[in-house]
Amino acid sequence: MGCFSSKVARQFPGHEDPVALASQTAFSVSEVEALFELYKSISSSVVDDGLISKIFELFDVKHKGVIDFSDFVRSLNVFHPNASQEDKIDFSFKLYDLDNTGFIERQEVKQMLIALLCESEMKLADETVEIILDKTFLDADVNRDGKIDKSEWENFVCRNPSLLKIMTLPYLRDITTTFPSFVFNSEVDEIAA
Ligand code: CA
Ligand code: MN
Repeated sequence: MGCFSSKVARQFPGHEDPVALASQTAFSVSEVEALFELYKSISSSVVDDGLISKIFELFDVKHKGVIDFSDFVRSLNVFHPNASQEDKIDFSFKLYDLDNTGFIERQEVKQMLIALLCESEMKLADETVEIILDKTFLDADVNRDGKIDKSEWENFVCRNPSLLKIMTLPYLRDITTTFPSFVFNSEVDEIAA
């Protein structure tokens, strides 16, 4: 059958030249290399994490049901500090709108809040979470319909720019410290850029 093994290529499709991917995104070559490690660890683990699943759903722009490495890097580009504010706002809205209703509902903000607290190993009492949600909706839900639409979200984010800081995925928060070996192995001079 000529069924020779090309396991690596099949397992990690789209593993393009890091230099090419870096030139098309805001990432440096060493960051792209580190992202490949992240990609391998995410795609080879069975992640039952609502947030990761949702992110992957958003990344799968061509609806192939799989995210290859080049999709992964191009999609993660929105999380880069140099990505445009508009893209970040747009992506964050879709990210929070877990059930794709076109609105961010209270339950969705709660899920995200809990996920984020979990990632940062913070534990807040249920009542505290509810208070945060009340304050968030009081501030964000201008028309008081109990949900946040796109323009309410834009306004809210503009008034609270720190919200976009959480647009940095926990794994990406400091990719160079997460995968130091890759960075140190890179020959690319970052400072010269
Ligand atoms: Ca929704
Ligand atoms: Mn509203």
